[in-house]
Amino acid sequence: MKITVFGSGYVGLVAAAGFADAGHKVHCIDIDEARISRLRKGEIPFFEPGLSEVVHRAHQGRRLTFDTAIDAAHKTSQVYFIAVGTPPLPDGKADVRAVHAAAQTICEVAETPAVVGIKSTVPVGTCDAIQALVDTAGKKHFVASIPEFLKEGSALADFMKPDRIILGVAHREAEKILRELYHPLQLSSDRVLVMDRRSSELSKYASNAMLATRISFMNEMARLCDTLGADIHAIRRAVGSDKRIGPSFLYAGPGYGGSCFPKDVSALAERSKEVGITLEVVEAAGRANKKQQSYIRDRVFSMLKDEAKNKIVAIWGVAFKAETDDVRETPALPVIQALIEAGCTVRIHDPEAAENFVKNYSLNVTIVNNEYEAAQDADLVVVMTDWRHFRNPDLEQLRNVMRTPAVFDARNLWTPFSLNSKGFHYQNVGSNLTDRTPDA
Ligand code: NAD
Repeated sequence: MKITVFGSGYVGLVAAAGFADAGHKVHCIDIDEARISRLRKGEIPFFEPGLSEVVHRAHQGRRLTFDTAIDAAHKTSQVYFIAVGTPPLPDGKADVRAVHAAAQTICEVAETPAVVGIKSTVPVGTCDAIQALVDTAGKKHFVASIPEFLKEGSALADFMKPDRIILGVAHREAEKILRELYHPLQLSSDRVLVMDRRSSELSKYASNAMLATRISFMNEMARLCDTLGADIHAIRRAVGSDKRIGPSFLYAGPGYGGSCFPKDVSALAERSKEVGITLEVVEAAGRANKKQQSYIRDRVFSMLKDEAKNKIVAIWGVAFKAETDDVRETPALPVIQALIEAGCTVRIHDPEAAENFVKNYSLNVTIVNNEYEAAQDADLVVVMTDWRHFRNPDLEQLRNVMRTPAVFDARNLWTPFSLNSKGFHYQNVGSNLTDRTPDA
């Protein structure tokens, strides 16, 4: 099938590569010329495990092409995907201007009726608005909502083996074409859920809001554990072993970040207000997340005994989570900003995201290549991202290079037992019982 994808970001490029790998002919469009020229040279503009090989293979096989405008061959695509950004506006609503711009382009250049599949996360009613735009232009395209559920860090695997494929459609023809398109991605079982477009749009927000709520709930429990002297790991296991609840997304930490949860939680709450509904739980999840970030910042300062001036702090990890270079809404940001404001010297180490962090936030931090260099003469190490190589540090080396061997572990990678016994002053989020053994 011939398809065109608008947007070559985390979603657009992964979708384009995934469909091309499944044998479709894919044209990937982006208005960012620098990005397209890098892609044409075989460079992937962001870090995503395994993506480079698949893009390269599809590009070499001429099943995947990149451009800043639709070429003649793709003016007869059967499906146009819109996977452009929908960032937050200052009032918390989603900015859907790029989605409308892409739809406008499709109306102008597409020569034959096609499916316009909206993969961007968009407020309920956006597909209807885009359908109206198409109809007004006198075109016969079928607008569909096909929300994306991939996770950065395992985006390609998630795309290739999705838990579910939601097709929000208003036309039988669109469903038929999309089922055919997705057929190679669901050979082992039928993962397609067909529904109306509004339900599909809301499903995406509901999923993200549910996940954000679980995280915020467990973060609140962790704060309670810190105050009452309980262990969040024990609580997590106790709660998660209930089959009605399940074990996923129950890890306490520095609060959620990234390009999706914060903006989707606020966009859902704001869209609901427009129709007179206050989403108490969703709004509380957002508030609790902000509180968690302040809590983490306060805990860091309390480990510095509230005397941050002239101290050296090593930040291990600035990506919003492991296996990505994405620093949008990273929980590391408020901590680092506060430390710099207080007169600290901040060194950061992140295997993928350090340069993005400095480029995005222009903060006065020093980037270093490894975690021990970051900790040299430091007064405190703060673990903000759960990169795998942070899990088993050489504790002797770490203790020897630090001025004072103190660690704040916002990801709960270690236990007081394992670090205190090696001479560290160690604290984490909700699991500070000193009599807890590593495997308890
Ligand atoms: P991104 O910012 O990484 O990429 C968006 C790309 O779209 C950019 O390269 C931009 O230049 C391009 N673009 C903007 N306007 C365009 C236009 N008119 N024509 C062509 N290209 C255009 O964004 P992303 O992280 O890939 O997210 C895209 C959408 O998918 C968002 O709505 C997001 O909420 C949603 N989503 C993201 C994820 C994720 O993990 N990143 C997961 C699921 C859904």
